[in-house]
Amino acid sequence: MSATQLHVWRDPLPADIAPLLPDFLEALPGPTHIQLSGRDASRCRVVVTLLHGNEPSGLTAVHALLRQGLEPAVDIHIFIVNVDAAREQPMFSYRMLPGDRDLNRSFKAPFDSDPQSRLAKVLLDCWQTLAPEALIDIHNTSGLGPSFGVVTSIEPEHEALISLFTHRMVMTDLVLGSVMDLSGRFCPVVTIECGGARSDESDRTALIGLTQYVSLAQVLDLAPNNDVIMDYFHHPLRLELLPGASVDFGNEALLVRGVTLLPDLEQLNFNHVEPDTRLGYITGELTDVLQARTSAGENRLQHFFHVDDGCLLARVRMKFFMVTNNPEIARTDCLLYFVPA
Ligand SMILES: [Zn+2]
Repeated sequence: MSATQLHVWRDPLPADIAPLLPDFLEALPGPTHIQLSGRDASRCRVVVTLLHGNEPSGLTAVHALLRQGLEPAVDIHIFIVNVDAAREQPMFSYRMLPGDRDLNRSFKAPFDSDPQSRLAKVLLDCWQTLAPEALIDIHNTSGLGPSFGVVTSIEPEHEALISLFTHRMVMTDLVLGSVMDLSGRFCPVVTIECGGARSDESDRTALIGLTQYVSLAQVLDLAPNNDVIMDYFHHPLRLELLPGASVDFGNEALLVRGVTLLPDLEQLNFNHVEPDTRLGYITGELTDVLQARTSAGENRLQHFFHVDDGCLLARVRMKFFMVTNNPEIARTDCLLYFVPA
């Protein structure tokens, strides 16, 4: 069971930080709130990371920054959350501990139903009290793919925050109980997906973005001569497994009701998927295996996917992202997100 108490660590010196990332993680007592004093103490910013224990790029960047000991522009509050899941062996392989609820689906009432909800409430209360000018939540995708930011509305502050890390911006109004649902409640909130876990490029994305977020005096305005052109992806749908259906990855159809996804499907992340692209195999009726609901609750599955001779095919041109290759995440969260192209 995860801890629900936050440990506060104020202004650690570079010499206090273990040189190696695994040692740094092992030394954390549990969910940790690191406070860094900045040049302008009248303002603060929040960084959240490791809500998912198998997504280390944010932690890697935090570790590197603490080792460098750079002086932040404003007060910085870093929340390293699911330490227990991250250090369960093999390190960085558990999104959450077995039997725990997904922390990034726990930021919604009721807050007293389990330890994850209680920890979410502790975090939420802490962030509201801090009244930061911005909050970023740093993740990795479970499959391979490039970086992107996620927002609940297109605002100049959101664009400015995301442009510190990446030029791809996904706009969603799906309410999942994630940190991002809090946007606008007390400050701009964006989620950064740095790309796949255990990728040097993802770690670099996190470090470059976080260094700017910590050290720039202004992070809510795009620089006047900024030539970043953002790519927008509006209102993605989630392709979800229906209860009782099975999911597998491979080149053979299942014997039971379910879906088999082709093993290299994650290569499609942020690439165009043309009509009739083969995605895998369906055993049983498509509508008994999968669903794709809009935020209004309408199931649009058959508008976007169809089955021919047992093969699952794209029906229209789409872009996919967050394609997972992890059966557990496919079962408990979703198989992938998509937008019509
Ligand atoms: Zn995540």
